[in-house]
Amino acid sequence: MQIIFGPVNSRRFGKSLGIDLSPSKKQCNFDCLYCELAPAPTVDAYDEVVSVEEIMKALNNTLGEHQDIDALTVTANGEPTLYHHLSELMDEINKVKGTIKTLILSNAANIHEPSIQEALQKFDTVKLSLDCATPRCLKRLDRAHKSIDVEEIKSGMLSFKAKFSKPLIIEILFVKGVNDGEEEIEALNKYLLMLKPTRIDIGTIDRPPAYYVEPLAYEALRKISLKFDANLPIYIASRKTVIGEPSAYSREDILETIKKRPLTLADIEVLFDSASKIRLKKLIDEKKIEIENCAGYDFFVKNT
Ligand code: SF4
Repeated sequence: MQIIFGPVNSRRFGKSLGIDLSPSKKQCNFDCLYCELAPAPTVDAYDEVVSVEEIMKALNNTLGEHQDIDALTVTANGEPTLYHHLSELMDEINKVKGTIKTLILSNAANIHEPSIQEALQKFDTVKLSLDCATPRCLKRLDRAHKSIDVEEIKSGMLSFKAKFSKPLIIEILFVKGVNDGEEEIEALNKYLLMLKPTRIDIGTIDRPPAYYVEPLAYEALRKISLKFDANLPIYIASRKTVIGEPSAYSREDILETIKKRPLTLADIEVLFDSASKIRLKKLIDEKKIEIENCAGYDFFVKNT
């Protein structure tokens, strides 16, 4: 039973460790079509619970071996907020973590519950999934436990955001033919304009899914990103399925493209040919475009 995994090195987070709150089996209130774990019946509570003491012992051992950890991600084979002692565990982690940043990845299904909100407040960054803004989509894509209501998720996120002053990131995973239609994107856009998260990561299936579903190409994700309001800080997180070649962008094209939707360095790598990258650098030197950091990612934005 492996509770701690890593460390892994990344340019953005530095050296990070993961904590798996459900190391023995999948325990989740969703059974998403795209899940990288095998299909499993949904649950509304863990029946196999690791103690806080056991987790802290494993964490302290690993922190003793690696004294240069920058980040700690709390996750699970399933949904970490279903872990009964999350708040208590965070109290213990916060006593020993020093300058290490903590992050949780949650499907937000129970975010309306005050006890869950209290536990999430104890993290430095909270990342919540929101693949669907309508009940039909939640049922079809996330195959949520019967007790879960998308309106409760949405109102719960709003009440949590009102109290949480640290970075709140929303993750939307798009699946071809399931949640990439106009109606769902419009509903997500309308809601996200109210929520105003720190950043919105949009992605698609990167690993073999639990059920037969298909990913979207990078270009389709880019089209989707343009359907959202230009003021929403959208980051395209999946780049595995690029089909097009980099193109030539004039100075005007660059300014217009960035005005519609700020781009990251990773977007530039996919979209711009080498001459366009030189034009972009010139626009930065002329201060027509500037770089803005949004919860860890640099975005090229038009200088106003
Ligand atoms: S919420 Fe995460 S763990 Fe649960 S079914 Fe969906 S993808 Fe899998």
